[in-house]
Amino acid sequence: MKDLKVFEYMEKHEYEQVVYFYDRTTGLKGVTVIHNTTLGPALGGTRLWNYESEDEAVLDCLRLARGMTYKAAAAGLNLGGGKTVLIGDATKVKSEAYFRALGRYVQSLNGRYITAEDVNTNTKDMSYIHMETDYVVGLEGKSGNPSPMTALGAFYGIKSALKYKYDNEDISKYTFAIQGAGQTGYYLTKYLLAENAKKIYFSEINPKHIERMKQEHPEVEFVDPDKLYGLEVDVLSPCALGGVLNSDTIPQIKAKIVAGTANNVLLEEDIHGDMLKDRGILYAPDFVINAGGLINVYYELLNQPKEKVEADLKLIKDRLLEIYAIAEKEGIHTQLAAKVFAKKRIETIKNLHDNYIPR
Ligand code: NAD
Repeated sequence: MKDLKVFEYMEKHEYEQVVYFYDRTTGLKGVTVIHNTTLGPALGGTRLWNYESEDEAVLDCLRLARGMTYKAAAAGLNLGGGKTVLIGDATKVKSEAYFRALGRYVQSLNGRYITAEDVNTNTKDMSYIHMETDYVVGLEGKSGNPSPMTALGAFYGIKSALKYKYDNEDISKYTFAIQGAGQTGYYLTKYLLAENAKKIYFSEINPKHIERMKQEHPEVEFVDPDKLYGLEVDVLSPCALGGVLNSDTIPQIKAKIVAGTANNVLLEEDIHGDMLKDRGILYAPDFVINAGGLINVYYELLNQPKEKVEADLKLIKDRLLEIYAIAEKEGIHTQLAAKVFAKKRIETIKNLHDNYIPR
């Protein structure tokens, strides 16, 4: 990796703040990035990973924080984008003191940044952070596991893609290929089955998840992971890793819609966004269709009931339709249209706040 020039990168993508921290008692070391707080406090999870280098960790944090800005903005939430990454081996470093130390750094930002769970951090870790700060969400007994909400949001997103493409969102008329039957893919399958999906295929690499699906839903057919892209289905639903749509896989796709829960599905956004567009495949932009988990914690923050979350998740449908209309009008791919949509909201609210009103 080329040496990362943090200030250059901050300037290019308009970041507000990068905070490095090291705790001498616990060895905690990491970085919090605040990308943009125009709409509200920056919210983003804490990722714990054994990064190969400091640059790799900081770059990951910078990218993820920026992604959170767009995700929150597109979801209509009054939140900005931020993220924390911790450098360390998750099997060795975790302890009460370690996360309390992190909680103190979060508190030192005085509400400009709110943290949550992410890769290798869980509700128990959040409860330790909570001992030192209130700026944490995803706590036990509060909004709970975000995955069912993410999957439900994606389910509405699939309906909106069907409406846009075929003017008919009756799930029972269509066939689906789901990549990954982990947390979100599993729940998404359940929602599709509840509306009598015509046929569902799934691929998985974890034997436990394959077995769970076979036991609970024998009608859902397992296919080899390599064969999933080429299946004759209406909707391909990536619910596993990022970067899966690339120059090798896109030519294999027979589905006319790609819509799932996974983040960063396009290996290279512009190249592969355009490739899907040129092939007439409708791509539901990832950070819009998978915002259900963020919407869920947002209502935890506002102390609002679950019903509010469910009502808000349904809005994902209209939001995506608006984004598809922008893509069509501008002749751009849908992932880019989603960014245009998110940036427009940030810009509008910023301009709205340019006069002084005492309150
Ligand atoms: P998960 O780890 O529970 O599930 C992913 C599943 O995909 C695993 O079971 C894994 O074995 C399987 N998998 C990995 N590689 C595969 C392959 N090549 N072919 C088939 N299956 C494969 O993760 P999750 O929480 O369901 O998240 C899935 C995606 O959704 C991730 O990209 C995540 O960032 C994104 N996402 C999740 C949430 C959430 O609330 N959990 C929210 C927003 C975005």
